[in-house]
Amino acid sequence: MLSTRICVACRLKKAQKDLIRLTCDYQSGEVRLNTGAKGLSGRSCYICRRKTCVEQALKGTRIKGALEGRKVKGRPAGRSVAFPLSQQLIQLVYRECTDTDKTCQNTQSKE
Ligand SMILES: [Zn+2]
Repeated sequence: MLSTRICVACRLKKAQKDLIRLTCDYQSGEVRLNTGAKGLSGRSCYICRRKTCVEQALKGTRIKGALEGRKVKGRPAGRSVAFPLSQQLIQLVYRECTDTDKTCQNTQSKE
């Protein structure tokens, strides 16, 4: 059984293992990279392990919106999401990408 999730950038459904998971800590509102470690509880959002999606997701407030959830009319947002994301987190997310531009390593020495 494969659980699928939707990427916040491209909105495509993917297997959960192919996505980077960000979880907003229920108590502190801090957003963390969820690598499956226990102890993180809160709302999650997902991004493809593609640089283009990560860039797009980090650019706007998509992540914030996804983590805050739908706003209920007439009520203040129940969740607080620490935003913008910390530089440290952004770096961690980029490190999760599997298609980071590979510069050609085939540098055969020419004489
Ligand atoms: Zn995507």
